[in-house]
Order: sequence, then structure tokens, then C-alpha cells
Amino acid sequence: MKHYNAKEVEEKIKKFWEKEKIYKFDSKKKGKIYSIDTPPPTVSGDMHIGHAFSYSQQDFIARFRRMFEDNIFYPFGTDDNGLPTERLVERINKVKSKEMSRSAFIELCLKTLKDITPDFVQQWKDLGVSADYNVCYSTIDKNSQKISQKSFIDLFKAERIYKKNFPTIWCPECQTSIAQAELEDKEFKSFFSTIEFGVEAKTLPIATTRPELIPACVAIFVNPGDKRYKNLVGKKAKIPLFNYEVPIFEDKLADIEKGTGVMMVCSYGDKFDVDAINRYKLKPRIIFNYDGTINFGEYKGMKIREARKKILENLKKAGLILDQKQISHIINVHDKCGTEIEFLPTEQWFIKVLDKKKELIKQGKKIKWYPNFMRKRFENWIDGLEWDWNISRDRHFGVSIPAWYCRKCDETIIADEKELPLNPSEIEKKCSKCKGRAEPEIKVLDTWATSSLTSQIASSLVGNKIKLPYSLRPQAHDIIRTWAFYTIVKAYLHENKIPWENIVVSGFVRLEGEKMSKSKGNIIEPRDAIQKYGSDALRFWAAGSKLGEDLNYQEKDLVAGKRFVTKLFNASKFVFMNLGKTKPKKPKKLESVDKLFLQELSIIVNNTTSYFKKYEYSGAKMEIEQFFWKSFTDNYLEIVKKRIYQGKGDEKLSAQYTLYQSLLTILKLIAPIIPFITEEIYQTYFKKHEKDKSIHISRWPRSDKEKKSKDWGILINIISKIRKEKTKAKKPMNAEIILSLDRKDHNALKELIQDLKNVTNAPEIKTGKFKVEFK
Ligand SMILES: [Zn+2]
Ligand SMILES: [Zn+2]
Repeated sequence: MKHYNAKEVEEKIKKFWEKEKIYKFDSKKKGKIYSIDTPPPTVSGDMHIGHAFSYSQQDFIARFRRMFEDNIFYPFGTDDNGLPTERLVERINKVKSKEMSRSAFIELCLKTLKDITPDFVQQWKDLGVSADYNVCYSTIDKNSQKISQKSFIDLFKAERIYKKNFPTIWCPECQTSIAQAELEDKEFKSFFSTIEFGVEAKTLPIATTRPELIPACVAIFVNPGDKRYKNLVGKKAKIPLFNYEVPIFEDKLADIEKGTGVMMVCSYGDKFDVDAINRYKLKPRIIFNYDGTINFGEYKGMKIREARKKILENLKKAGLILDQKQISHIINVHDKCGTEIEFLPTEQWFIKVLDKKKELIKQGKKIKWYPNFMRKRFENWIDGLEWDWNISRDRHFGVSIPAWYCRKCDETIIADEKELPLNPSEIEKKCSKCKGRAEPEIKVLDTWATSSLTSQIASSLVGNKIKLPYSLRPQAHDIIRTWAFYTIVKAYLHENKIPWENIVVSGFVRLEGEKMSKSKGNIIEPRDAIQKYGSDALRFWAAGSKLGEDLNYQEKDLVAGKRFVTKLFNASKFVFMNLGKTKPKKPKKLESVDKLFLQELSIIVNNTTSYFKKYEYSGAKMEIEQFFWKSFTDNYLEIVKKRIYQGKGDEKLSAQYTLYQSLLTILKLIAPIIPFITEEIYQTYFKKHEKDKSIHISRWPRSDKEKKSKDWGILINIISKIRKEKTKAKKPMNAEIILSLDRKDHNALKELIQDLKNVTNAPEIKTGKFKVEFK
């Protein structure tokens, strides 16, 4: 091959890995098992650039540990149930799940997944992610359902799970209850209107951004310290437009500083309302349907925003708006659809976590977080938790809750472990008390209730050989509050263990500082990038970010990656053109410059190893990249050229031996980051001399602690100064010169003088002030 063709080579190497089962997990193999709790990507049409970024990064670690002689357990899975999957299936098939029968929709989900999953997973293989794709699960497969349902049963029996009818966070768009962890902040513009309520003959002004909740008002709060309204406490307030009365209470929830200082308590505007109505045992006035439409009067059927507009119009007509201004404020929205959430009373299942906050923070401290500050995010999340974990969803496609209930006796019947996995709708159960027919629970589990068990699910595929804690959880920072938190919860509640010893948290990909998103239209497709530059180049870019930090996507970084790959290819070709048919043996005595170069390389080996051990792949990449360009190609290759071409005996052999060893070492050090080109070079040139089937299961280079010698630096520095002089004099690089060197440098390089003469074409080197003379 004359030029490196990334596409062709990567295709070939991928097939080779698969055929030779290079990444197959072997539970019988000796050595410490290094287990990775691989994030199962949520199935969608295409891998996105964030995936390419974070999965490359975890693969650097896996590949390094594998060469470092750990026995790697690196399973693969897909997350394919719950809301994201439902929304995808709805989009692809142009349907609405709530308008279909449950069974028809589930069937459609399964069919769609079957169609799109193989192509989706293929993209992880294309990227070179070295997971064992035979240890593969889906979070909706039978085995995962079974493990998830067993977790439910165990926690129910341990009285960690309860069912409660309660105003919970509700998404009117997705029509399901959701958990606190699924809330996101979004900024909205709203009218902040001061509206005239009445108390006896007087006016009571109340400011609100949600006038549509006026008919849901059940009480008025004023602060006990607020002198303005002292005399109103105990009286009744008249609700404008709707003409009914509510009590006025003193309560600290009313904020003197906010609006007029008077608070309307509605069912339900926010969590404070939920709390207030609960404490005063008020009868709620529920004005919303589950789909977010209003359920009464002239507003019936209107969406919340329409109703808000209409009520403001009506208030204005009645002259009840005292003041109005436009403000920007932060509102909680559902992270899956961006819709403003509501609070609606429904019956849901919860896992008790609030009573274990301290213990969970303690569990977090037992885990090593990379970077360390990410632990603080975990702790802040726990500190701010206000609700137990809501694990039920009013949706179709998910793991069934293995329960039935009897309306008559209010009895809950839980499945037997032997029956799992099951769908309660397909099984008849009798009430254990009245022996009447029990009704199946039709809600499904929150997808996190299953994906918080990925380590147990993956282990079950290899005979439960992998115990908690795993070695590593790689994941992105936006799901610390969900995936990391819930996994820690489950490991703690089930086994009183931490799920993993280490967690490495990756950042986001940005485009000129902005987060990529479909709505901004600034999406970069990994597929296109790979097509143009190759997977190695894309991975090379992904290695550029420090752990936990966001990385800008810049095409020039991929160009640099491609250039590095090409140079590696060409340099290897050059080296092997000048080696014999056999592996060069180590001569009795290495030439000084060769020894010095290998010493220099040892330092790089040590640095790179320690970077990889600390999960700092960007440091590792930088070490090797610089060494390769500056020391190897720019200088060492030039220094030994003459000896290779014209040298004899051990003098030549010393150079050949050093070239062979150093190139192999460089390839191994960079192999975790650019696995395709390194494998290609290994297979083409080294395989016949080395015993390992693949570079990726070869032994990681080791070296003794080397003292850093200054001599290599001095030599490189002088060569570069001479090159500059030649350029300045417009002479070719091989122009013959007379060189004068400072005595100090001359002495330091005593052993290297011949090589210096060769590379600079200076048959004569004098001592004196540094000078380059041309003949
Ligand atoms: Zn939603
Ligand atoms: Zn009963």
C-alpha cells in the first residue's frame, strides 16, 4: 500500500479482531479481572458525537488495562425501554402510543428495535470500541427484566418500596409521573401580574406568573412577620372571576419580599403548594387533566398556556389586573421533552431514599471519583433531594411492575421470584385476603430502575463471575444524579456495597463553546467524520480533552489526527525498508546515541503509563505525540540514516535494533488511542517476529526508572540550531559545514560526536563559540 487508506484498513482490522476474538472475555484466564460497567447507550438511529467522545475515552482505558495484563471484562449493552425509546418509536413510525393499544404499541417497539439495533451497535464497532460484543444485553430483554423485577421484589420485601397516592411531578406531554432527577431548568419569559383579590370590602393584591391556577386556589398565606396583612389573618379571601372564598392563614412560606408578599396556595403549582395543602389538610381543587388540559368551565379542553392567556384577558376585561410586567424566570421542565411540569395526585411507587441520605454520601466517599470534584456534584444532588425515588411510569414500553392489587381490601400482591420475568396483565392472581380477583399493575418501571443494575445484568451473562464492586464506571457528568446515583442506591440497598471502585466522568462536546443540539442545528455526525478522516483520527481528537472537561469539536484536530496516523504509517515503512529479514538482535554494545535515545524513550514509557493509570489519557497522548514528532521522526531517524545506509557490523546493527525496539514501543504506547493503524503496522511488520496475535493483547512496555539525561536535549537543540542556520543561508539540509561547539557542549556530547557529524554533515567539529560555516 502506497498511501494509507484509513477506510480500507479499518474495515479489514475490524474483521480481523472479530474473527480472532481478540476482545473476548475469558473467565478462566489468570490475572486480576478489571471489570467495566459499560454505559448502555440509548438506542436511537445514530451514534452522536458525544457518544464518540466518551466511548473513545473509556476505550483508551480498557485497551491500556488489557495490555497492562489485566483480564478485562468489558461487556456491551443497549438501553432500549422507557420514554426515550417510546418517543423514538413514535417518531420513526409516526404514531402516538397513548392512541394505540398497549400490546400493539409494545409489539411495534420490539419490531422497531429489532430493525435499528444492529446498525446502531455496529457504529460502536466502527469506532473501535473494544468491548466483548458477545457479552451483550438490552435493558428490555428477558434476563434484564427478570433481574429488574427481582430487585423490585427484594426491595418491596425489605419495606424499601411503597405505593402512595400523592401529588407527584407530572409531565403533561409524556403523560407520566417522573422523578426529581428528570427535571431540568429552562428560562421562560412570562407576565408577572398583580391581581385583585378581595377581603370583605377591601382589595388584596396578589402577584403571580400563573393566573390559570387562580381557580385552583384553596388558601391564601401571609407571613407572620408581615405587618401589612396582620388584620386579615383568619378572614376569608374572595377569588376573582370564580367567586368563591378561601381561608387566609399565617405561614412562613409566604415570602415578604416576593411580589406583594401574599401567596396563593393552589393545587398544585409547585412543591410548596404540595407541602402547604398537606399540612393544612385542605381539599385540593384539581383543574388539570393528565394531558395538561383544563377540566372545567369555559376553559375546558384548553392547554395550560391557552388558559393562561384567556384568564388574563378575562381579568383585564373585569379590571382586576392592578399591575403587570414581563419577566424572565427559571422553570422546571421534563428533560426528555422540555415541557413545563405540573403536580398531579396519582398513585405511584417509590423507593425510600430520603432516610438514607447520610449513608449514600458515605458510599460516594468510598468510591474514587475522576476528576475528584465530580463527587461534590453527587453530594449536592443528595443534599437537595426532596422526594423519594419515584420508580413507576404511566407508560407502555418498559419492565412491568410485578404486582397486583385488590381494590376491595387495598391489598398488594407481589409476584413470586420463580415466575419472573412476567407481565402481570397476562397472569391471573387472587387477593390473598378476600380471594377475589386481583387487578394487575399496568404501570411500568422507570428505565433507571433497570439500568441501575447494569453491573448485575452483565455479570449474569458470565455466570455471575463478576462481583461488586466493579473496577470502573465510565459515564458523562449529566447523569451523575441519575445513573450514578441510582446505581449507588441499588448496590447499597441490595448488597451494602459500592458498585465500583472508580468512576471516571467525561465532559461534553461543544461547537465553538456551544453545546451541540438538534434545535441549534449544529450537530456533527461521527459517521461523517469517520468517513472523511477515519476512526483513529476521531479518537485522536477525543483524547485531547482532560478528564471531565468539555471539548470543542474542531476539524483541525481531526486533520492533526490524520496527519499523525499517516506519518506513523510512512515512518514504519521507512524503518522496515532498512531492516533485514530477521528481527535485529541486540549488539554487544549499543552506540551511545542509540542508548541515549532508548533511555529517553524509557522516560516516555514511565510517564505514559502513569498517565494512563490515573485515567489521564490526554497527558499520555501528548507525551507520545510530542516524542514521536520531535524525537523520533525529526531527529532520531535523521541521526541514524547514514549509519543505516553506510554503516557496518555492530554500528549498523545498533541502529537497526534501536529502530525496531523504539518503533514497537511507540506503537504500543499509542495503541489504546489509535487502535487501527497500530494494529495494521504490527500485523504488516512485527507480527512475524513477535509472538502475540494482536498488538492489543501484547505486553505493555515496561522500563526501569531512568534518570533523565540532559545530553539528548543538548543534542537535539544543537541539531535544530544548525538546521536554522542552514535555512537562513538558503542551503540544503545536507550541505557540508564546519561546526564550532562550546567546550561545555563538546564535552557533553563526546560520545555522540560521530552521529552529530553524520546528521549535520560536519566532517570537522571545532571547539569555540557556536558557529556554522559553509565550505
Ligand atoms: Zn415529558
Ligand atoms: Zn381482597
